[in-house]
Amino acid sequence: MSPFFSKKNDTPAEDAWFLPEDARKALLETFKALRDDVPLEVFTREGENDPYNDFLRKFVRDLGRLDAKIKPVYHTLDSDRARELQVTFSPTLCVVPGKYSLRYLGAPLGEEGRSFIQAILLASSGESHLSATSRQILKQLDEPRQVRVFVNPGCPYCPGQVFNAFKAAVERPDLVRAECVDSAQHTALADEYHISSVPHTIINDELHLLGLEQEEQFLVELVSLQSAQQILGDDEHEHEHDHDHAHHHHPPVEQVDVVIIGSGPAGLTAGIYCVRSGLKTVILEKLVVGGAVAITPVVENYPGFANIPGKKLMDIMAEHARGYCDIREGEEVEEIKLGKQVEIHTNRGIYATRAVLLCTGASWKKIGAVGEDTYSGFGVSYCSSCDGYLYRDRTVAVVGGGNSALTDALHLKNLGADVTIIHRRETFRAQQHLQDSVAKAGIPVLWNKEVLEILGKDNRVTGARLRDTVTAEETSLTLDGVFAAVGVSPNTALAQDLGVQLDEHGFIQVDRSMRTNIPRVYAAGDVTGGVQQIVTAIGEGSVAALSAFEDLAHPYWVQPKR
Ligand code: NAP
Repeated sequence: MSPFFSKKNDTPAEDAWFLPEDARKALLETFKALRDDVPLEVFTREGENDPYNDFLRKFVRDLGRLDAKIKPVYHTLDSDRARELQVTFSPTLCVVPGKYSLRYLGAPLGEEGRSFIQAILLASSGESHLSATSRQILKQLDEPRQVRVFVNPGCPYCPGQVFNAFKAAVERPDLVRAECVDSAQHTALADEYHISSVPHTIINDELHLLGLEQEEQFLVELVSLQSAQQILGDDEHEHEHDHDHAHHHHPPVEQVDVVIIGSGPAGLTAGIYCVRSGLKTVILEKLVVGGAVAITPVVENYPGFANIPGKKLMDIMAEHARGYCDIREGEEVEEIKLGKQVEIHTNRGIYATRAVLLCTGASWKKIGAVGEDTYSGFGVSYCSSCDGYLYRDRTVAVVGGGNSALTDALHLKNLGADVTIIHRRETFRAQQHLQDSVAKAGIPVLWNKEVLEILGKDNRVTGARLRDTVTAEETSLTLDGVFAAVGVSPNTALAQDLGVQLDEHGFIQVDRSMRTNIPRVYAAGDVTGGVQQIVTAIGEGSVAALSAFEDLAHPYWVQPKR
């Protein structure tokens, strides 16, 4: 039974609501934006995935009761309609079939509940909401595309990739069919395609794409049936030219007071403080809102919340910040130019700003084992929130001894996986509370072991070769997956291009006001090093914003006139 079903919902009376009251309230608001009718056709077969069938029927029934424009229709898998639409899996959900080809194989659970609501809005509006560049790219498509995005319910990156596919299908309903496949429900298909990380996108059964991509990149790949790496490899110069053409051809320039790069706790807090100080502010986020916390399974040290999934905490923070400023997801900063104003060039346009806040965070490090890259996405994972669900009845190892490793191990254990922690020393560096929880959960630890090699066969991890750091003895372990949690390194590429000074550990050097060595450039959060906690990132974000406000009013870099 999935953790996404609550006991009390197992047998509701026919007229009882399935969705909780707060969700219904939020949906009523959301559905005010509906324009055209939205037929939702549900296909099920009794005895196949019954809990999911039941979930989907009740979910869809509630939506229909909330707004008359949503029209649920129920079919069985052996109906003529199922044959007509070539539906063969139970449960399957088709959104506005006939007009669009948008479907879910498996009930949209967890994070995918969100992409489902977005899909309804998209289909009802009839507008794809693609960027101008993306629409231009998609115009070139002249043959059919079948896009399958494999997802997991807890994966914060998955809805973004599903949405990329759905937007393409709404823009080009004549040629693009898009499917979201829950790999935990449709295990047969997931196995057939060797899915071991999500989101995993397959186009025309031919092109495999791992991870969440920016809309424009995804569309180039969709149209060309080649991965971005292949396209770059084919003709680097030609691509550079395209790139120039797409991005610097009459780009719009937007005038703001502050650009915040990154939407983790530091960036979101800075956004709230900047706007409250009266500064016109945008937050640019190259992926999805929330930063590293969004993929932290559980947070237990953020005051006010004893225990909250990282994604949920960041959704709350993002909603608060959105009340003040735009958070532009999928928009990546490519270059920052210093002049009379600061010019920020992104994949979508140009900003002229008076100050910039670097809240770019840190990225996960690799273990450095042989075979790690080969099996990355095929059993080696850096995100237990994303991929853990695929391993809920399998044997996995978590590598590392810090807060992340122990949090991940507990999450995987909770999902039902057989977990072992592999640590290179004989003591953990993680907080004592987490160490106690790991001991209590009975998670075994292999102490003093380094991972020499990730073993695998046929695109799948089969184990790991370890060396004892004390005795130098080598051993092998049979595994289905390896989750790496061996620390982070700061994302300082933009800072370095600007000439921002780094400290001896490679983090951005800041003063107590979160100023860098370059006037008008501030930094906050994990990119500045330190203890790297949510609460410190938030503190730094507020300081950076208030300093920017002070400095713009009284610029310390302007010499007083005599
Ligand atoms: P971390 O605290 O730097 O710990 C990294 C762990 O990986 C260490 O135990 C380290 O071993 C080990 N390690 C490093 N390189 C390795 C390698 N090549 N092979 C094997 N093991 C290796 O990193 P983190 O746990 O990812 O946390 C990052 C930051 O986020 C920290 O400041 C942490 O406090 C903060 N944080 C994270 C969470 C969370 O749940 N994700 C929660 C609270 C705070 P040694 O111990 O021997 O160095």
